[in-house]
Amino acid sequence: MKIGFVGLGNMGAPMATNLAKAGHMVTGYDPAGVTAERVIVAETLEGAVRGQAAVITMLPNGAIVRAVHDDIARLAEPGALLVDCSTVDVDSARAVHGIALDAGLLSLDAPVSGGTGGAAAGTLTFMVGGGADAFAKGQPLFEIMGQKAVLCGEAGAGQAAKICNNMILGISMIGVCEAFHLADRLGLDRQAMFDVASTSSGSCWSLNTYCPAPGIGPKSPADNDYRPGFAAELMLKDLNLSQEAADVSGAATELGRHARDIYAGFVEAGGKGRDFSAILEKLTAR
Ligand code: NAD
Repeated sequence: MKIGFVGLGNMGAPMATNLAKAGHMVTGYDPAGVTAERVIVAETLEGAVRGQAAVITMLPNGAIVRAVHDDIARLAEPGALLVDCSTVDVDSARAVHGIALDAGLLSLDAPVSGGTGGAAAGTLTFMVGGGADAFAKGQPLFEIMGQKAVLCGEAGAGQAAKICNNMILGISMIGVCEAFHLADRLGLDRQAMFDVASTSSGSCWSLNTYCPAPGIGPKSPADNDYRPGFAAELMLKDLNLSQEAADVSGAATELGRHARDIYAGFVEAGGKGRDFSAILEKLTAR
């Protein structure tokens, strides 16, 4: 299939490469001039969009996604499939579906979980919103870039699932970091805490797979001086999205709000470009 890929950043580049490795002809575009292995790089957005059967976007935020999709809708072939894999607010996702529908295109919101490691390994989970026809067309691409794709509902449902998932992640990472901090204060060895909690009822992804304590558990950004990984700034973005959604819908998410405030303080104090698990350092520095 001929595929355009817009946004070749930390996530987009390895996702585009995996599609190319699977035999698709992938043309990428990114104004930062970055490239991706095996991907043809276009100088303009038009060069990556015209004549493609599918166009995938992996962009920083909702405002950029809306603006880029306005342009894509003008340039794409009638009937082409547009898949936005960025994490954005539900309203932007629905607006983008509307833009695509008006232009006679198929559209899916399909944010991902699994981070840069999952993007490189082709083991992402896709949370998808949109129609069954569009999903069926996108499924072979999701199977290359990921291990699982769940059709969550109509337009915007993928983004709704994503912000709920990442609210759990932000809260659980803070909880795991507080447990290591308490263990330190009680004189409990961090390895002992990990060995017990990772096989007990305290086990969770933030502890077992992405342990925030250096030298403990599987390799994680903590073992690489907290270089992201998943930047604290992006976690703050997602927690803001979940709180905005909670405010609009009237959902009670006290811990989500508290987690948002903790990450806002961390980012403001210089943690912007650090991995979101570096919140452990903030606690232990007290
Ligand atoms: P990134 O900043 O590395 O990549 C974004 C890319 O978009 C950049 O290369 C930038 O130059 C490009 N871009 C900006 N404006 C553009 C435009 N108008 N046209 C084309 N390209 C443009 O970010 P990332 O880490 O790859 O994240 C991308 C999205 O995926 C975000 O929405 C993020 O929340 C989400 N996400 C990230 C992770 C992660 O672990 N990094 C995990 C899940 C989801």
